[in-house]
Amino acid sequence: MIEANLQNTKKCLLGLTQKELQELALSFDEPAYRGKQLANWLYHQNISSWDEVKNFPKSFKQKLEEGTTISNIEFVESKFSSDDSIKCLFRSKDGYFLETVLIRKNGRHTICVSSQLGCKMNCSFCASSKEGFIRNLKATEIVSQLFLLKQITGERVDNIVYMGMGEPLENFDAVMKSIEIFNSDWGFHIGARKITVSTVGLVPAIKKFSQEKLRQIRLSISVHSPFDDVRREIVPINRKYDLTELMDVLRNEKGRYGREYTFEYTLLKGINDRPEDAVELSKMANDVGAKVNLIAYNPIPDASFERSSLAVMRRFREILDKKKIRNTLRISSGADIDAACGQLRLQRHREQKG
Ligand code: SF4
Repeated sequence: MIEANLQNTKKCLLGLTQKELQELALSFDEPAYRGKQLANWLYHQNISSWDEVKNFPKSFKQKLEEGTTISNIEFVESKFSSDDSIKCLFRSKDGYFLETVLIRKNGRHTICVSSQLGCKMNCSFCASSKEGFIRNLKATEIVSQLFLLKQITGERVDNIVYMGMGEPLENFDAVMKSIEIFNSDWGFHIGARKITVSTVGLVPAIKKFSQEKLRQIRLSISVHSPFDDVRREIVPINRKYDLTELMDVLRNEKGRYGREYTFEYTLLKGINDRPEDAVELSKMANDVGAKVNLIAYNPIPDASFERSSLAVMRRFREILDKKKIRNTLRISSGADIDAACGQLRLQRHREQKG
């Protein structure tokens, strides 16, 4: 496996577009088509060493070895859960931990990538923001998560969801560039319909996202309560962009996506799992044509929230069903591997600080 080179001077190749790889080849006095070949070796062949590359002259390989690095994050550890999920912990060049999860379910392999180190959004039930926000991830660090996870697990990846640590639309340019690399024929060639970007509800960024040429990419919105007074407490961004504003932008931009929205809804005992929550959520989903993904909460040590009982979760679903809202219930992939978003990273971060 390729380990991240910790020297700052080396250019990292993962995260470069085919055009940028062509420019890099030219800067090494090689023909531009070497850039296309580089894209193929990196994104299609997932190489672990330049020794595997047969069609490059020795001199070019040497230049690549000396002047570039393939990935700029390093693998730290992986944890397997009984439900077949794998959580990988990586470390950035500047020494911070980040997490990536591979969820294997119903024959589909979905990777959940992180887009930031920490998170500014401070959702009260989430581990990712508990140690504050450090910085945005670079496109190369987002792309490296998929590249290394494929190497480590040897698994194929069918779907990508931007639902790991961070608010993807806050790191707009890097996320868009990583999507280009995941989606392009010369890149990982993962269909746009298999990519989901999640947001906690940054209204201006949703507008901007809808103007990108990203039709077919799914936008998922973390709703977590259909009532402003509750949502303000658990999803603080609601104090800036309330549900009226959020619903307005979703309604206005609906036609541009070409896909239905998804509402993410983490069920928290006694907070947002009442029948009236389900009824109101149904109205919202119906209004903008959204499907609802219910998520059973994974408790974290720093928050006092509890998971709703199975009976309550079922009752919630029944109401959605009656209102004809398409929905799923995810009972935690990897409950036994510190599955809550950001939790493994938080533990390692605290151990490191002692
Ligand atoms: S739920 Fe998402 S947006 Fe909210 S703090 Fe966690 S990572 Fe950030």
